[in-house]
This record gives sequence, C-alpha cells and structure tokens, in this order.
Amino acid sequence: MIFRQLFDEATWTYTYLIASGKGREAVIIDPVIEHTDMYLTLIDQLGIRLVRAMDTHVHADHITALGALREKTQCITNLGEQTDAECVSETFKDGDVIDVDGIKIKTLHTPGHTNDSYSFVMADRVFTGDTLLIRGSGRTDFQAGDPGDSWDSITGKLFALPDETLVYPGHDYKGWTVSTIGEEKQFNPRLAGKSREEYIEIMNNLNLPDPKLMDIAVPANLKCGRS
Ligand code: FE
Repeated sequence: MIFRQLFDEATWTYTYLIASGKGREAVIIDPVIEHTDMYLTLIDQLGIRLVRAMDTHVHADHITALGALREKTQCITNLGEQTDAECVSETFKDGDVIDVDGIKIKTLHTPGHTNDSYSFVMADRVFTGDTLLIRGSGRTDFQAGDPGDSWDSITGKLFALPDETLVYPGHDYKGWTVSTIGEEKQFNPRLAGKSREEYIEIMNNLNLPDPKLMDIAVPANLKCGRS
C-alpha cells in the first residue's frame, strides 16, 4: 500500500494520500488548498491516479482543496450527507463502504466536533478527522458541535474498533503523528476514567478563541474551496 501523511504547518492539519500500489487509483483525505500543486506533484511522482478527494467534515480553520483537485484531476469529491456544502459530487452516509481500487474505506458518522463529522475506517487504521485527536478531541463549540455527541461518537463508535487500530487524526498541535485506539482509551486525558458528564463539562469550558480563518474558511468550504 502507498500511504503518505502530509502536514499543513500553518493550521496543523494532516492530509492523507492512499493507494493500493503504483499504477493504481488513489484517494486523498482532508487536502488543504495551498498544497494542491504539491499533492499533484507527489501523485505524479508516485505513479498513482487521484480518483477521489474526501473531507472528514466542513473545516473551519483551513480551505479545502476538494474543488481545486476536482478541477485538475476530475476526481470525485465527497462529504457526508449531513453537510451543508452543495458542491461535492457525491455524499456518503453512515456505514457506506467506498472502494478505491481495492482499498476499502468504511464511513462512520461521528458527530460532535461538527454534525457532519465522519471517521474513515480501513482494515488496520482509522482517520478520525477532528472527532478524536491524539490525547485530545476536537472542540464542540461551533458548526452544530455537541459535546455529548462527541462523547457518544468516540466511546460508542471509535472505541468499539480493535485496540490495535491505528488512529490518524485531522490535526495535531504537539507533534504526535499516530496513536492507537487502545492508547487513547488508556491515556486520553479527556476520556480515560471520565464520565460523559465530566467530558461535557471539560468541553464546555475549553474557552478557545475562534480559528483565525473561520469567517473565510467555512463559507469557502461550503463551495469546496471555490468562490
Ligand atoms: Fe475541524
């Protein structure tokens, strides 16, 4: 399998590029518009063909490259059916299985950070978007976020995956790159040993500033990054 974890240093965003091998079709998850040319160069160098670009949710902190990549490669663009973005070519729903030239990706609706948040499950790994972060979780104070939903998504759906499942998040602010479900169950300070009520209390008192690009990014992303 070809697998690349790419990083946007301006917004601490991870993007993932996956294909089953050289000459095969590829999918990109959570691409950032500023890096469109870099993705296209890498795709070319790896000898793979981009057929699908998927966002885990409508992002508030960066502009998606979904629209730009579709223009350049004619790839299919995807978001969950709960999205307000009308620009994507297809939406997926909870429990769908997307097949990218032999790579099977199951879409798991994991609301909480936003109501349109999904996690993407493969055989040995899960892309958790901003639902579950390494030793953290995505804020729940805008875009129809809900801390109770976040708890239910993480503990009910993600923690039901095998402990050895690799966790690849949508962001990291400390330098972590990958975790496992077992590790997060044991060591995530917001979740380990906490009750649902305690988690809601924590999430309701984070007092985070709005993302710098929020007023630009959300409307832009509802148009797949194309104005
Ligand atoms: Fe987010």
